[in-house]
Amino acid sequence: MTSSARPLLNRRLAEFGTTIFAEMSALALHTGAINLGQGFPDTDGPEEVREAAVRALRDGRGNQYPPGPGVPELRTAVAAHQLRRYGLSYDPDTEVLVTAGATEAIAASLLALLEPGDEVIALEPYYDSYAASIAMAGGTRVPVTLRPDGDGFTLDLDELRAAVTDRTRLLLINTPHNPTGTVLTRAELAAVAELAVERDLLVVTDEVYEHLVFDDAEHVPLASFPGMRERTVTISSSGKTFSFTGWKVGWITAAPPLVAAVRSAKQFLTYVSAGPFQYAVAEALALPESYFTGFRDDMRAKRDLLAAGLAEAGFRVFRPAGTYFVTTDIRPLGETDGLAFCRALPERAGVVAVPNAVFYDHREAGAPFVRFAFCKRTEVLQEAAKRLAAL
Ligand SMILES: *Cc1c(COP(=O)(O)O)cnc(C)c1O
Repeated sequence: MTSSARPLLNRRLAEFGTTIFAEMSALALHTGAINLGQGFPDTDGPEEVREAAVRALRDGRGNQYPPGPGVPELRTAVAAHQLRRYGLSYDPDTEVLVTAGATEAIAASLLALLEPGDEVIALEPYYDSYAASIAMAGGTRVPVTLRPDGDGFTLDLDELRAAVTDRTRLLLINTPHNPTGTVLTRAELAAVAELAVERDLLVVTDEVYEHLVFDDAEHVPLASFPGMRERTVTISSSGKTFSFTGWKVGWITAAPPLVAAVRSAKQFLTYVSAGPFQYAVAEALALPESYFTGFRDDMRAKRDLLAAGLAEAGFRVFRPAGTYFVTTDIRPLGETDGLAFCRALPERAGVVAVPNAVFYDHREAGAPFVRFAFCKRTEVLQEAAKRLAAL
């Protein structure tokens, strides 16, 4: 029996409703518009990786509950990747935990590490699951806003420092950053690290776009800075790097006490997931360097194609240094309200985008910004650019 006086959805989650992606994807379906809203590729990842999953299924590997921390092959491959790429050494047995995508890694980390009332500083605009996961863990989110600056967005380090209070437990960092495409520089990361050490904060860093960094930008893991290894939970995932977002194979790397804590929460969320896919992702992580550079170069070309189309159509374009999203400012088009703009765009131009305002607590700071995904086939991006030119 339910009481009619009391809402069904609890107070912690009431503000979240359904995600903007559900609304915009439904709009895309309804209008036949090109969906550049949600960030998923419209082609699958490498054939050999897909075949590896098929083989694992057929060979009966992972069809029953895999080990709680993840299959050893994948944990070993994750550790080898961190060492090969960043010189970071992690023990596959005690310092790697496989999760149901980065999403579960984020939720489990916050559920494990926060007490009710703890403050969590997150870069705003933030990935939509952060706010909900902080809320589920009983934490209080404290957004620090990335500000538009030239053709990108920047982190104001003084603002970040000023946001730390005696109740701050954790910094939730995301670089390369969705939705702005910002890649924090080595100097910025060093400052974040210094602050974390000085104020004795834990750091959860979402690095799912670690392989999608363009031009002169470089991805440097926060865990590689002095004093950070023992306080940092690094999160990544196979979804974005290998274009299999439906497999939901993610992982954390961290010091043993942090991994043990996160695992305590994770075991009661999914316990385990994606058995056969874990074997396939282990093979994917061992692909030759040419796969990673080819993937990155392909995405950079897509970025350039869509960014040029958007600029041509009259948007102000913030050139992303990473991820597969481009954020635009609609004010040069005579518009100010991104949400209204995105609701009308499918009818007006046959394209779906996402209003960045939904990723902000300070909605007004995000009002004029709109995000487009460029992880789509070239002909789809060309057609989208053609349609947008009609604006
Ligand atoms: C896509 C995305 C995730 C979720 O990754 P999954 O592995 O699909 O759960 C997490 N963080 C950011 C910033 C993302 O863009």
